[in-house]
Amino acid sequence: MAPRTLDFRDHRRELDDNRYVYAVVSRRSRGLSIGINLNPDKVCNFACPYCQVDRRTPGDGRAVDPARLEAELDHLLGLVASGRLWTVAPFSTAAPALRRVNDIAWAGDGEPTTSAAFADSIGIVDRLRRRHGLSSVSLHLLTNATLLHRPTVAAALDRFTEAGGVIWGKLDAGTQACFERVDGTTLPLSRVVSNLALAARRWRLVLQCMFVRWEGVDPTDDEVSAWADRIAEILDAGGRIEQVQVYSVARRPADPRVAPVPASRLEEIAAAARALGVDAVVYPGVA
Ligand code: SF4
Repeated sequence: MAPRTLDFRDHRRELDDNRYVYAVVSRRSRGLSIGINLNPDKVCNFACPYCQVDRRTPGDGRAVDPARLEAELDHLLGLVASGRLWTVAPFSTAAPALRRVNDIAWAGDGEPTTSAAFADSIGIVDRLRRRHGLSSVSLHLLTNATLLHRPTVAAALDRFTEAGGVIWGKLDAGTQACFERVDGTTLPLSRVVSNLALAARRWRLVLQCMFVRWEGVDPTDDEVSAWADRIAEILDAGGRIEQVQVYSVARRPADPRVAPVPASRLEEIAAAARALGVDAVVYPGVA
């Protein structure tokens, strides 16, 4: 029997008590992704109907403790660097090709840049990465881009970029109406687009773009065209986009209005980005 592919958060006892650091084998990274969750309070300024965070149970409202974050990450990176991680379940069941650390990603139960500990966390991660001989492990920030214009966040991102980090900024829509529906917010889409343009000029940027079948209807040609127009806006502002990732829901979300978009439609959407000269990849969802 082929080894099982891990696609869940590690619940092995050693990491069970962790508040901020977790480990997953993700379909996109084809290996281990170490996650930094700066939002155990589950607070987010979006309310995406496709969100996989379970908000039926309350979050942990305590302020992030940088010392605890450092201790948790130090422990996990120690397991990784020594290879011991792959000797215990469930990691011991991972296919050999997946036994590699792909990245350390700020991706938790909310928007990482809203956390007061965001700037501190960058220094902690970079320091520990080097201490454990894992300097080549990539750093990714998954963000909805709403706060990138704030001076404190921008300064932290300068530091993040010096450490080799890449911003994975969310762009799920091309019109305000679609944005409000897909991301569950009344914040202006224009702010997100101008912040992504800022990121594309000043830092390294990948766009992560979620498309969903909404009440049985896939994204229309008009919606896709408007989304491509927003990408063109970022490019026209002098920005450089390293890649556009087009994907759909991997698991059926709690919201019954949301379902995966077929891979063939996702390919058509990616083609609209490629027509602008940008590399685009598709990660189909599974029903
Ligand atoms: S931005 Fe991310 S964490 Fe926030 S609601 Fe959307 S999917 Fe969930």
